[in-house]
Amino acid sequence: MESITGYTLRELRDKVSQLGMESYRANQILRWIYKKKVTDFELMTDLPRNYRLHLREIFSVCSLKLIKSVEAPSAVKYLFKTKDDHLIETVLIKERDHLTLCVSSQIGCAVGCKFCATALDGLKRNLKTEEIVDQFLQVQLTLKEHIRNVVFMGMGEPLANYDNVRKAVEIMISPWGFDLSKRRVTLSTSGLLKPLCKMRRDPLLKEINLAVSINAPFQELREEIMPLSEKNDLEELMKILREFPLPKYRRITLEYVLIKDLNDSPSMAKALADLIGKSVKRFKVNLIPYNPDPFLPYERPSLDRIMEFQRILWSKGISTFVRFSKGVEVFGACGQLRHNRNMLKSHFHESYSQMANGVSIDNCCSSLYKSNPGSSF
Ligand code: SF4
Repeated sequence: MESITGYTLRELRDKVSQLGMESYRANQILRWIYKKKVTDFELMTDLPRNYRLHLREIFSVCSLKLIKSVEAPSAVKYLFKTKDDHLIETVLIKERDHLTLCVSSQIGCAVGCKFCATALDGLKRNLKTEEIVDQFLQVQLTLKEHIRNVVFMGMGEPLANYDNVRKAVEIMISPWGFDLSKRRVTLSTSGLLKPLCKMRRDPLLKEINLAVSINAPFQELREEIMPLSEKNDLEELMKILREFPLPKYRRITLEYVLIKDLNDSPSMAKALADLIGKSVKRFKVNLIPYNPDPFLPYERPSLDRIMEFQRILWSKGISTFVRFSKGVEVFGACGQLRHNRNMLKSHFHESYSQMANGVSIDNCCSSLYKSNPGSSF
């Protein structure tokens, strides 16, 4: 049975026409699903009864099965099962005044970041459009408050699943879909060059927020930490990012996971500042203190070391934020998820994965510096 949430409005209009229904019925169906959060065709009462029966035979609304959720004060982790029995996770982050959903785009990941346990399992497959959309839909169904922000920072490299992620973004930001602001959708990538070039010419994706994992200011070290970067020249990546078309007042986030004695020295901070060079208005840096995992040989730097790194970047005029993320309590962390014996073997992209107990994103940012209020980071 096909999942209807894999269709854009245009595609669904064509599809229902082929089924012998008026094309405007597609608008009605999607209004029921995305605006009224109704997932049973039988309850779509402005459709003729024979249409409802027909739709029920052909389509399902939800493509994932919600297996369980684990709630903590700052986050909720949802465990879903796909139709082919893979498990994926989605994390709802409760920020001070809004909700952010961290969605997965792949089952596993092929990038192979050394500090990330998702890499240990390799890539199983891309998620389909409906499986990405359904993470949002099903989590929203459990809540009274609207989810305002979406970040593609869950399992997987979203740009390696370009077409499905693109279509899911279209459904998220379209007035006939979830109608989220483009400014509130963020795609986080390890920096795949070819898809990034495609993205900068893409009228839809170039409008959303872009975050890129840098993790090292030198090619050699970056290759060591992020093996896929062997094919991805750091200088070339920075060139693409410098030329990336940005909407007014928008900046690209450079993510940097700080790992003790690997990439956390003052000289690394200076080298990172040099890499950014004169483009200080184009980039901001998120420093993400590594969250230790018993299965991986890395440690988090001391707070003094983290602050020193930040001070160096600030001294060069680079907006830099330390992001202690939320979610450790529910094992919403990179590495934690994979090794969370009770849930599943998977985990999340580093940004929401390097999570620190008891320190909230908002508290951290506002107590240190004035955070960008329009940003989800
Ligand atoms: S950090 Fe992100 S890109 Fe790197 S292996 Fe993990 S999921 Fe993939």
